[in-house]
Parts: sequence; structure tokens; C-alpha cells
Amino acid sequence: MKTTDLLIAGGGPAGLAAAIAARRKGLQVTLVEPTRPPIDKACGEGLMPDALDALARLGVQLEPTDGSPFRGIRFLGHGASVDGRFLNGGGMGVRRTRLHSVLREHAEAEGAVLRWGSRVTAIEKRHAFIACEPIAFRYLLGADGSSSTIRRWAGLERGSYKGSRLGFRRQYSIAPWSDCVEVHWGPQCQLYITPIGSDRICIALLTRRTDLRLDQALKFFPEVAARLGSGSPIGLPRGANSVFRRLNRVVKENIALVGDASGSVDAITGEGMCLSFRQATALAEALSKDRLQEYQEAHSRIRSAPDRIAWLLLKMDRSELVCRRALQSLSRQPEFFTPLLALHAGEPSRAVLAGAMCSLGWSLLTA
Ligand SMILES: Cc1cc2nc3c(=O)[nH]c(=O)nc-3n(C[C@H](O)[C@H](O)[C@H](O)COP(=O)(O)OP(=O)(O)OC[C@H]3O[C@@H](n4cnc5c(N)ncnc54)[C@H](O)[C@@H]3O)c2cc1C
Repeated sequence: MKTTDLLIAGGGPAGLAAAIAARRKGLQVTLVEPTRPPIDKACGEGLMPDALDALARLGVQLEPTDGSPFRGIRFLGHGASVDGRFLNGGGMGVRRTRLHSVLREHAEAEGAVLRWGSRVTAIEKRHAFIACEPIAFRYLLGADGSSSTIRRWAGLERGSYKGSRLGFRRQYSIAPWSDCVEVHWGPQCQLYITPIGSDRICIALLTRRTDLRLDQALKFFPEVAARLGSGSPIGLPRGANSVFRRLNRVVKENIALVGDASGSVDAITGEGMCLSFRQATALAEALSKDRLQEYQEAHSRIRSAPDRIAWLLLKMDRSELVCRRALQSLSRQPEFFTPLLALHAGEPSRAVLAGAMCSLGWSLLTA
């Protein structure tokens, strides 16, 4: 029977990041993924500054030619517009397939065994089956996305499910018109636009409405529709569920979960991949010490700020009144947006943030 220290089910961003991190700690890694690279997925394709930092800690440095930089986030809606700039560095819009190729190349260079076109079909305590072939492992990692089979098999499903929304993504061949990621707030939906190249943008729609699709949603955003008039769509829209779920536990005996399999925040935060990268580093650290419980603790810490931001942004999604007041307050006092963004982008300055939250809360109440 073949053996490996770490068997990873899933070759998306989380699985590949975990493969890189574990190899850098000297573990033997075998990764199994049913589809073939480069893997595409419905995604806003934005990497926040903290995601780029987390990638750098994995030894992955993106090149300027890999995508397009952005300097902050712009919120637009209810007649208001407000820009928040990142305090340290910037983010980067990168096509999902490009990011996948970069991560795959790093995982291969680090010496991980990557088995594309195969899936984990059953698990026992110390071995799994890849189709009919058994493989013995010390640890098994579920990186198999938000509907994780490994999570179910391991009995790690319990937790709080805070809802899901539909997400759609389409790329357009048009030069980016902004150096920010634009988030347009509309009725029960948001459209966010990420620059991903000198001649390409990515548009993602997030909505609670099951009947709404990207082309129909554009009627709520006539200024975006007008700009898109000069560009052409690339390929068909891709859809996926954006799930907000927190699990009670992400570790059981010698099995752990990472990425969306380990719970996820709503996609509006743009934090999904950053969480995966940070979790990968924490997991490898815990595995190298043979103390998986440390990963459980690190996982909770890593989730806490994105959880709070997701909660806040979903409040704006659910209530038009809250959304209008928040956007109008922020546009009147744009100096509060940057510290909020600092929390969002992993650059928290607690004192500034506390001041900004109090002032914003007060202006929301009195607006
Ligand atoms: C509309 C939308 C927009 C988003 N925008 C952003 C954004 O702008 N920025 C950001 O950071 N995040 C964004 N996200 C979140 C981000 O896409 C996810 O957090 C990220 O894909 C998680 O990666 P993952 O590897 O955990 O899961 P996935 O990317 O879903 O990969 C899981 C992999 O596991 C494989 N698999 C399934 N079953 C098995 C099995 N039995 N054995 C082996 N492999 C298996 C699947 O084939 C898949 O390749 C967005 C999400 C949505 C839905």
C-alpha cells in the first residue's frame, strides 16, 4: 500500500496552499483532485492585501503580470460613493485559473504529489481509497469545498449555518476604469467589479434572490451597464453558492478541514482565499509539532475578524434602511472607511478602529 504523511482531498486554492505549507515543513504530501488544472470557479477574483501577505508566507509571490493591482475599495449606492484606501500596500485582481496555475507550480516545485482526475471515495481510520486503490496516511485533510464529503464522513458537520446566497461571475474585455474594487449596492444584491488585467475586469453578482441573474441585475446598475457597452463579455457566466457557515470543530482525531470545507464567510467580504492561505500555514505548523489541536485554536482566531465584517455587510444586504444610512454616513465621513477597511484587510489598528466604529454607529443612529 502507498503511504503519505498528509493526504489532501481537494486541489482548489485551500488544498494547494496546504500542500505547499506542509511540504515546507518537511511532510510527505499527496493531493487528490477529481478535476484537471487549471481549475476555474465563480469568484470575484480579488486578493486583499492580507491574502497577498498570507501567500508570501507560503513563499508565493505574484508577479505584476499575473493580474492587476488595486488600492482600495469603493462603495456605491443610494446616491452615495465612498473610497477606502488600504493602509499598507494594495490588493490584486488575479484570474482564478492564473492563481491556480501559480499555486500548482509551487506545490509541484515543493515536491507534493498531485493526482489530478482522481477522488477520495472512502476513508478508514488510517487509510483512504482513491477509486479502488488504498493509500495509508498519518493525517487526512478535507479541502474539498463548501459541500465537503470529508467533513460529513468525519462527523464534523455541526455548527452554525448562517445562510447562503447565489453568486455569479463574468469577465469582460475592457480596461479597468478604477484602481479600486467597486462594490455597487442594489436591491437585495451587490455587484462587485475587480480589475484583473490591463484590458480585463471581473464582475461578480451576489444575491439572495433565486431568480436574479447577472444580465438582469445590470438594469439596477445603469452606470455599470453603460460602461460595459464598450467591452465584450468573455465566456458564459459561472455560478456558485456563497455560504456563510461556522463549524464547531474543524479537527477530529487525525482529520482536519481547511478552506471552504472548514466553514466560510459570505463572498462579499472577499476574504475566502485569504482564510484558506492563513489556515494552511497554521495547519502545517500544528502538523509539524504533531499537535492538531493547535490548528483548531488558530482556525477560530483566523475566522474572527472576517466573521464580524461579514455580519456587518450582510446587515446592509438585508435592510435597505441600514444600507442607505451606512453608505450616506460613510460618504459624509469618508475618514471612517479606511480604518474599517484596515480591519477587513487584516491591518487592524484597534484604537483607530474603535473610534471609527463608535462614530459610525452614532452617525447611523442619528442619520
Ligand atoms: C461568487 C463568489 C465570489 C467570490 N469572490 C471571492 C473573492 O473575490 N476573493 C476571495 O478571496 N474569495 C472569493 N470567494 C470565495 C472563494 O472562491 C473560496 O473561498 C475558495 O474557492 C475556497 O477554496 P477551496 O479550495 O476551499 O474550495 P474550492 O475552490 O471549492 O475547491 C474545492 C476542490 O475540492 C474538489 N473536491 C470535491 N470533492 C472531492 C473529493 N471527494 N476528493 C477530492 N477532491 C474533491 C473540487 O473539485 C474542488 O476543486 C468567492 C466565492 C463566490 C461563490
